[in-house]
Amino acid sequence: MLLWTVALPMVAISAHWELAARPHDAADARETDAYLGSLGILPPVLLLLVGAGLALAIGPTLLRGAHGLHLFVLLSLLLLLALGRALLHALHTRLAYLALLGRVRESERAAVTDPLTGLPNKRACTQRLEDEVTRAARYKRPLAVIFADIDFFKLINDTHGHGVGDDALCAVAHMLRDRIRTTDMAARLGGEEFVLILPETTLSQADILAERLRQAIDNLRLPLPGGGVLRMTISLGIAAYPETSDSADSLIHDADEAMGRAKEAGRNRVMHARAKSLLFVLE
Ligand code: GH3
Ligand code: MG
Ligand code: MG
Repeated sequence: MLLWTVALPMVAISAHWELAARPHDAADARETDAYLGSLGILPPVLLLLVGAGLALAIGPTLLRGAHGLHLFVLLSLLLLLALGRALLHALHTRLAYLALLGRVRESERAAVTDPLTGLPNKRACTQRLEDEVTRAARYKRPLAVIFADIDFFKLINDTHGHGVGDDALCAVAHMLRDRIRTTDMAARLGGEEFVLILPETTLSQADILAERLRQAIDNLRLPLPGGGVLRMTISLGIAAYPETSDSADSLIHDADEAMGRAKEAGRNRVMHARAKSLLFVLE
C-alpha cells in the first residue's frame, strides 16, 4: 500500500512530462526551452531526493517486515525508472526544440531570399535600403542605388527557352554580386530587374561602378546548350542620397526612372537621376 502511494504519483508525473509539452511551433519550443533552461534537471533531482528521503525514513521499518527487502528494492527501481523517464523526456524535448528552431531559421532565410539566384529578394532590399537611408541621414554619409535591367530579356526567353533565360538571370546576378563590396547589397527585385545598394558611395563613384558592370555584362559569353554563346546587355540607372533623392522610396523610384531613360536612349548604357539642389553639405 505504502509502495503504491509513493511510487505511482512519481511514475505518473514523469509519464506526463514525457507525453505532454512537446513543442509544436516556434513559440511553444521557446517556452519549453525556457522551462528546460531554468528547471531542466531540477524536477528529476527533486524526485530522487524525495524518494531517497522516504526510503531512508521508511526503509528500516520495511526491512524489518517479512518482504521488507523486496519492497525496498522495488521502490528503488521505480524511483530510478521515474528519474530515467524524466531525463529521457528532457532529451526528447531538447532535440525536438533544436529541430524546430532549424526549420524556423530556414523559413526565415527563405522569406528574404530569391530562390532562383540566391540573391536577397525585394523584401530584404527594401528593409536594407530603409536602414541604410536612416544611417546615412543620421551620420550625414553618402549612399547610392543602382537599378539594373537586362535588355530584351523577353527575346532571350522566346528565342532560347525559359531554361536559358533562368541561366542568364543567374549569370547576371552572380556577376553583380561578385563585383561589389561585402558591405554593399545586390538584390533581385523581380523578373530581370536588380538593385544594388551602395553605402558610403557618391553619385560619381556609383557611376564608375555602373559603367564597369555594364562592360562586364557586355563582355559575358554564356554557352548555349545547342552550341554557340549567348550575349546580353543591361541598362542601368543611378540615384544617390542626398544628391538626387532623399528617401528609400525615392532612391528606388529615381534610379528606376533613370534606367528607363537609358532604355529610351538605346539601352546598354548608364544614366543617373537628376541632381536636386544641394542644401545638404556632406562633411
Ligand atoms: P527591355 O529591354 O525593355 O527591358 O525589354 P525586356 O524584354 O527585357 O523586358 P520585358 O519586361 O518586356 O520582359 C521581361 C521578361 O522577363 C518577361 C518575363 O517572362 C521574363 N521573366 C520574368 N521573370 C523570369 C524568370 O524568373 N525566369 C525567366 N526565364 N524569365 C523571366
Ligand atoms: Mg528588361
Ligand atoms: Mg524589366
